[in-house]
Amino acid sequence: MRILIIEDDATIAANLYDFLEGHGHSIDAAGDGITGLHLAVSQTFDVIVLDLGLPGMDGLTLARKLREEAHVETPILMLTARDTLDDRLEGFSRGADDYLVKPFSLKEVEARLTAMYRRASGRVTSRLLEHGQLTLDPKTMAVLFAGNEVKLPPKCLRILELLMREPQRVISRDEIERLVWGEAQETSDTLRSHLHTLRRALTAAAGFDPVETLHGIGYRLRNTDA
Ligand code: CA
Repeated sequence: MRILIIEDDATIAANLYDFLEGHGHSIDAAGDGITGLHLAVSQTFDVIVLDLGLPGMDGLTLARKLREEAHVETPILMLTARDTLDDRLEGFSRGADDYLVKPFSLKEVEARLTAMYRRASGRVTSRLLEHGQLTLDPKTMAVLFAGNEVKLPPKCLRILELLMREPQRVISRDEIERLVWGEAQETSDTLRSHLHTLRRALTAAAGFDPVETLHGIGYRLRNTDA
């Protein structure tokens, strides 16, 4: 996932950054509300981690501006030190999708972000995904490659959808496993066999394999223009 962290506590921000980046996510970070809002509006992220108490602009104001003024629907996980029901309700009404009360575990943050991302990806990208000669319709999960229909099992479709959503980005094995299966797999065999099925079906449709392996790093899509 592409994650924006908006948090002024340098230790918490560094812990989040290291943990999430170590799990294959790509991270941007801001230490104040103004910079955070600017990044959230000017770039595209899958999810945002937003601290409630921030210099410049507090988290609630930022969330409200993002939704109501910039019309950015990126899911927000609000971090709050104030453990009161009123604050939580206020956070939700201003556009946060979930919240965590400090102190939190880093694993919990990642689990919540993944859940938000999965919920949102159904509604955000219901538009047709296109990459050269390859198209995937998220509404029907119909795949066409070089004009030929490609039949794929559900997990393979999900992997292809992840790759197509960010065709330039290399997506790590860990990240694919977490987003498709909900957790990293014990061995690499599961992902490998699904990738094999995916590549074979795509190759059969167009005569070449659009999935590129970057050894030890991950996978991305090649240019599939005619
Ligand atoms: Ca703070």
